[in-house]
Amino acid sequence: MNTKKNIVILGAGESGVSAARLAQREGYAVFVSDAGPGNARYLAELEEAGIAFETNQHTGERIFAADEVVKSPGIPDHIPLIVELRNAGKPVISEIEFAYRFAPKGCEIVGITGSNGKTTTTMLTHHLLDFAGVNACAGGNLGDSFARLLLEHDPAEVYVLELSSFQLDGMVDFRPSIATVLNITPDHLDRYDYDLDKYANSKVSIAKNQRLNDQLLVLADPTVIAPALRRQKIDTNLTTISDDDVRDGSVFVDGFEFTLGTGRLRGRHNGLNALFAIRIALQLGVNEKEIQLALDSFLPAPHRMEVIPTADQRTWINDSKATNVDATYFALEAMTGPTVWIAGGTDKGNDYDVLLPLVRENVHTLICMGKDNTKLVEAFTGEVKTLLECSSAAAAVVFAHQIARQGDTILLSPCCASFDLFNNYIDRGDQFRAAVKNLNA
Ligand code: ADP
Repeated sequence: MNTKKNIVILGAGESGVSAARLAQREGYAVFVSDAGPGNARYLAELEEAGIAFETNQHTGERIFAADEVVKSPGIPDHIPLIVELRNAGKPVISEIEFAYRFAPKGCEIVGITGSNGKTTTTMLTHHLLDFAGVNACAGGNLGDSFARLLLEHDPAEVYVLELSSFQLDGMVDFRPSIATVLNITPDHLDRYDYDLDKYANSKVSIAKNQRLNDQLLVLADPTVIAPALRRQKIDTNLTTISDDDVRDGSVFVDGFEFTLGTGRLRGRHNGLNALFAIRIALQLGVNEKEIQLALDSFLPAPHRMEVIPTADQRTWINDSKATNVDATYFALEAMTGPTVWIAGGTDKGNDYDVLLPLVRENVHTLICMGKDNTKLVEAFTGEVKTLLECSSAAAAVVFAHQIARQGDTILLSPCCASFDLFNNYIDRGDQFRAAVKNLNA
């Protein structure tokens, strides 16, 4: 008699394939199903591991034979297959939930969620810990999945996990010892019936299994986060992080000042991210001096307020990852003088009004870089001295170069998704950086 538990993994990407391999290691019978063609690298990994899979289809018979289903975060809950699986009583969980079962006993799990700043805060937290010699690794929604961290690395003392709301939606028992909600602003609402409360519920569910000896750090936000926490009835140690503790390039934690000036964490938003990361590091036993030294040596990920070095006495900033209004708000707020702003792409139902005061303060030129710039043009006509339109990063850079004077900043912070002209935000930022370097060659 076969007593192996049957697990089916939907989606053959990073999380699906690593979950499949972890399941295989743990003695499950595994089948992977992807409705699309799949990615050659991940399919090769499955083949090498001898894991059965299918692509370009979902075979109902095999999938419904599962005792449990692990779903990629990219697959929405409302598609018929998922609804039918749930109706048939099949547990549908996320890769994080599955991997959690096999985390080393006694390890600390830090879960980081929010609408913006997850990657920066996850990387910074990992850096603060690693710098101080704590055996920590980072992953989740960034880089290696949790399952891969467990498969391919030696057991760590601390796992720092970036978690998207889609990953949180598939949680049952997952319990981070330290959880954070960095901020909640409208994003991905198409997956939440265009209801901000539902999206907020998903974000704060990061703490739903926490107990009194766990820690939850959230932004002080009386309008969205606080009501969501009341709806969730959280039973943990709650700390609120306030904007007031970010001042003039420094952040303050329990009376101690940490300076960000020598590092590359630009803008008030990065001050907030640093407050979260510092509190986590302190909680895990790192001392203030080590934290300050680590802050000074932190290198943020590219495409997030990334300064491109040039010799033209202008400051070029690549903030291609700013795909929503809130991220661009903080980028514009960090501008301290005359600015050429490059924005545009696929609009996600943006309301640009909130940006108007910041634009009036510093932006003299707006370069709209998108297939359809109508909304941006309507929102900012008459608000900036010069408004130009183009449809490539190369053209935007040439326009900007012609218009910007010495001492100006040229900021690419698109406020929109990139798919109209580029493969993704990385492609957009890479093309921008290459065009800037080309100009200065
Ligand atoms: P995420 O992983 O949540 O997308 P990132 O760290 O990759 O977050 O940053 C995405 C974008 O949001 C970048 O443009 C960045 O400058 C901006 N950003 C970073 N932290 C914050 C924050 N706390 N609030 C608002 N915007 C932020």
